[in-house]
Amino acid sequence: MNIESDILQITDWFPEIKTSHFIIAGPCAAESREQLLETAEKIAAQTSVKFFRAGLWKPRTRPDSFEGVGEKALPWLQEVKQKTGLYTCVEVAMPQHVEACLKYGIDVLWLGARTTANPFSVQEIAETLKGTGIPVLIKNPVNPDIELWIGAVERLYKSGIKKIGAVLRGFYPYERTILRNIPKWELAIEMKHRIHSLPVLCDASHIAGNVSYIPEICQKALDLNFDGLMLETHINPKAALSDAMQQLTPNELELLISGLCFRKPSVSDPVFNNLLEQYRDQIDSIDLQMLDLLGERMKIVREIGKYKSKNNVTILQLRRWEKIIATRSEYGNKAGLSYDFIKNLLELVHKESIQIQTKIMSNPGL
Ligand code: PEP
Ligand code: MN
Repeated sequence: MNIESDILQITDWFPEIKTSHFIIAGPCAAESREQLLETAEKIAAQTSVKFFRAGLWKPRTRPDSFEGVGEKALPWLQEVKQKTGLYTCVEVAMPQHVEACLKYGIDVLWLGARTTANPFSVQEIAETLKGTGIPVLIKNPVNPDIELWIGAVERLYKSGIKKIGAVLRGFYPYERTILRNIPKWELAIEMKHRIHSLPVLCDASHIAGNVSYIPEICQKALDLNFDGLMLETHINPKAALSDAMQQLTPNELELLISGLCFRKPSVSDPVFNNLLEQYRDQIDSIDLQMLDLLGERMKIVREIGKYKSKNNVTILQLRRWEKIIATRSEYGNKAGLSYDFIKNLLELVHKESIQIQTKIMSNPGL
C-alpha cells in the first residue's frame, strides 16, 4: 500500500465528466424540496457546475439553531440528480449519516471541519465506508493542526478509500479579521507536499463568510493550483436558514465562474519555458548569495556573543534592536519590500542571533 500512488487524481473520480476543475455548488443546508430543486435546476441550466452540495445534518455551535432537515432530504437529492444530472454531495458526521447517504446513492461525501478535528468520529466513519469506494472530501479541522488533517486522510485510505480530497475551509480566527475563517494557504500547500497526488479544493464560502470576498479567494486558490472549489449557492440567500451572508444566487455563481481565470500548472511552449528557466536561474543565484550573507552575519553574531559574555553584558540590547527595525524598514521599503515582510524577516534573523548568543553565554568554550 502506498498512499501517494494509490490516491486517484480528481479528474479520474468521474471519468465521464470532462472538466479540469471540480466545482461543487449548492445550499449550505437543504431546507425544503422546492428550495433544493429550484437551486439545482438554475445551477444546472446557467453554469458549468456538475456537483451539487447540501448539508442535511448541520453541526451548529449553539443548540436551538437550525440543525438541518436530516434524512428527509435524501429523496429530494435523488430527485435533483434525476432531473438535473448533477452529482450529489452531502456532509456526514456519524456512521448513520454514511449509511443513509449510501442507501440513497449520494455520489460524494464530505467530512466537516468539526468532524475532522475528532479522530474517534473519523475512525467510525472510515469503518462504515470500508468496501464502498465512494469519494470523500475532508475539510481542514477548525484548528490549524496539519497532523489531524493528514490523519483523517490516512484513516480513510486505510479503509480502502482511494478517491480522497482535502478541502481548505479556513481556520478559526482568534483575532478579529474581515474573513470568517483565516485561509492559511500554506497548510493546503503542505498537504500537497505531504501527499503529492492528493486533490485539494477550496471552500471559498466558509473562508469568506460574506459574498463580497469570494471572487478574490477563488482566484487565489486557482492561482495556487487548487483542483476545485466549493461554493454555497441558494435560490434566495436572504431567506437562507443558515450562512445567509455567504451564499451566492445561481446568477452570481455564473458571473463568478465566468470571471475567474483558470490557469494550467505548466505549458509546453519552449519560448515560455526558456525565459522561465532564465528567471529561475537568477533567483537560484540570489538565494545562494542571500544564504552566504546570512552565514557571514551569524559568524559576526557569534563573535559579539563571545565579546558580550567576556564583558558580562546582556544579550538583548533593546535600543539597538529598535534601531535595526527602524532603519532596515525604511531601507527595505525603498527597495520595494513591504514593511510586514521586512519585520517578519528581521524578527526571524534576530531570534536566531539571540539563540546563538544564548548558546555561547551558557557555554563560553564554544
Ligand atoms: C458546510 O459546508 O456547510 C459546513 C458546515 O462547513 P464546515 O465544516 O467547513 O464548517
Ligand atoms: Mn455553511
